Amino acid sequence: MKLAFCTVAPVKLVLFLVISINFNNSPVSANFFPNITSIPHSLIPNTTIWESFHNLTGCHKGVKSQGLPKLKKYFQFFGYLNNSYTNFSDDFDEYLESAVKSYQLNFNLNVTGQLDAPTLNHIVLPRCGNADIVNGTSIMRSGKSPNTYSANSTIHTVAHYSFFPDRPRWPPGTTQLTYAFLPENQLSDAVKGVFSRAFERWSEVTAFTFVETASFYDADLKIAFFGGDHGDGEPFDGVMGTLAHAFAPPAGRFHLDGDENWVIDGNFLGAAASVAAVDLESVAVHEIGHLLGLGHSSVEEAIMYPTISSSTRKVELANDDIMGIQELYGSNQNYNGSGQTLTPIGERDTSGAPRLDNLWGSGIVLVLGLLFFG
Ligand SMILES: [Zn+2]
Ligand SMILES: [Zn+2]
Repeated sequence: MKLAFCTVAPVKLVLFLVISINFNNSPVSANFFPNITSIPHSLIPNTTIWESFHNLTGCHKGVKSQGLPKLKKYFQFFGYLNNSYTNFSDDFDEYLESAVKSYQLNFNLNVTGQLDAPTLNHIVLPRCGNADIVNGTSIMRSGKSPNTYSANSTIHTVAHYSFFPDRPRWPPGTTQLTYAFLPENQLSDAVKGVFSRAFERWSEVTAFTFVETASFYDADLKIAFFGGDHGDGEPFDGVMGTLAHAFAPPAGRFHLDGDENWVIDGNFLGAAASVAAVDLESVAVHEIGHLLGLGHSSVEEAIMYPTISSSTRKVELANDDIMGIQELYGSNQNYNGSGQTLTPIGERDTSGAPRLDNLWGSGIVLVLGLLFFG
């Protein structure tokens, strides 16, 4: 009975339209649009790579479903199933249940261990290609010690920012990082300007300055648009799905999916989510956080939250982001953040809060109690 239910469950919500074409070769150009209205209908896909996960609604431990192998791949890709996991069968086993629970915890969902609608609605969102859990140890939500970074000891809060394992960072004393664009991408000044603005978000709260250089291979930070498999073991997947990924310091590699419909002007007022458009600056600000050493956060308004809805914009650092980056590097002495750099996440004045109209996935926390293969 359960098998039948899971197999025939109707698609309930189609949030995004996507195509699932993989390219063997990396194109040297990407799809850029000055604004959302300039995206032609021919580039709006009819389905998305993850949309079929809606067919798993209601599945839970003990049932079988033909869609589960693909979901297991998804969870393994983002770190929720250990790399040694190989049971890509139709069986909803205890490891998958554990993965679902970890995912729900990270994304502030009810921890049911079942593939309920709210969970699947989140799983299908476009997101960063970086894993949420690295080596089974770094997890977005665990909850760090309350008040550790609070300026007000009477306020109880939990920080959800995270770092890569072993906390890699740029060497002490580094104040300038150079960046360059893959020459073959032939980016316009308008596109480059988007990245410049994204870097500025992080300059404001750290001692870093970011300077463009012409030499791609000598630059500290290397920005490139690729399609499909591009040689680093992290292939892109066409429109929606994963949008970009970036490597921990000092690698400096920042890759974006050239098959997305990248929008330059950041104006999505009145836009329908089904257009499958991605705000370039929003993604750039997030990935730069990785380049500097931040992992994912489970704070929904944080830049380092892993998912973002189509046709939305989210470019302002949240306190969680600022606390994370300043724990790694200290603050910009000129930063006039009205004392907010030490303001707890859950208690800050909403007048200065970042916009909530976009969702970058959940954060990373060191979840010590979750072992997939216990
Ligand atoms: Zn990310
Ligand atoms: Zn890559």
